[in-house]
Amino acid sequence: MIWTDSFGEGTTLNKQKRADLLLVMVTFFWGASYYLTNLCLTDLQPMNLNAFRFLSAFAVLGVVFGAATDEQLHVRHIAVHSAEELPRLRGTKPVQSEIGDCYQKVRYYLDRGRRVLFSGTPCQVDGLYRYLGEHPENLLTCDVLCSGAASPGVWAHLLQTMAYIKQHEPLSVQFFGKLPGERERRFHVAFQGGGVYDAPIGRSDFGRGLLRGLFLRPACHACPYVTADRPGDLTLGSFHGLPKDFYPEEQKRGVSLLLVNSPKGAHVFDTLPLKRELRTLDEAVAGNPALRSVTCIPAERSAFFEAFVHQPFHQVQHRFLAASRPRVAPAEKAGSKRGLLQRLLRRKEK
Ligand code: SF4
Repeated sequence: MIWTDSFGEGTTLNKQKRADLLLVMVTFFWGASYYLTNLCLTDLQPMNLNAFRFLSAFAVLGVVFGAATDEQLHVRHIAVHSAEELPRLRGTKPVQSEIGDCYQKVRYYLDRGRRVLFSGTPCQVDGLYRYLGEHPENLLTCDVLCSGAASPGVWAHLLQTMAYIKQHEPLSVQFFGKLPGERERRFHVAFQGGGVYDAPIGRSDFGRGLLRGLFLRPACHACPYVTADRPGDLTLGSFHGLPKDFYPEEQKRGVSLLLVNSPKGAHVFDTLPLKRELRTLDEAVAGNPALRSVTCIPAERSAFFEAFVHQPFHQVQHRFLAASRPRVAPAEKAGSKRGLLQRLLRRKEK
């Protein structure tokens, strides 16, 4: 479209000049793509690079929607129109993203003949199709493997606490980052003034709650999308459960899972320059709980949210999320009738 506007009817360039100019531009972009590839390979893993190329192509031709963090590090869906903005969509964000007016914007761009790539959780992708009432040809969707999205309210309070402790506003977050050569996923927050919070995800307050499913959205505990029957044209996630001797180095860096769910997804997949290995669906399902079972409601969930509503957050954090949190006797766990009885008796004794 840009090219038509620049060189369309009414310009003074003759055909030969246009052809020469196009040749120069093609040569420039061809050379620049090699330079960018080299640059990216020093910084990105091959899968990320390929995903980045794929998304870049889409950003040039159309509009890409996905989850990003805003200036306050709240998670929101945004529209990306250029390759420079694409890194904002990279990385897992296990907090429910605010969809805002993205469904309306998808409709808007499709109606104007633009190609749209929408990525999100399966419920968001399904929601988009229900909003549109059709599967438009120019729309490609990617759903991500999802075992639950954390409460944005809890995430906002955790951010406030970290900002208070560091006495600076948080600038960026990586929920499941990795150090080069390490397998372990890390929770990393950078603050104004150069401070950081960095810990293996399972040893951070956020990770301790997230991995126990303590503050997931209620719908996630009855999610109908934990199945291999996916709403998106493609499904993206991490592949778990591969044999140890299968590409051990790649497994250390992380192997991605990509499910092709529709003819449109298959067509796009065939055009991607990915390093790929065909594995069976059974294998993918066996290694990835997000393809077969919902996350159970933890016994402490209702006690956590009761405390979240009624107590200062630092007390909630100490009681439920801190490494040295007080042990909850099994009988005292929320939902237990014996626990309730014991608490009532104790109150009477007082
Ligand atoms: S677990 Fe299900 S309901 Fe929850 S965010 Fe993921 S797809 Fe949506």
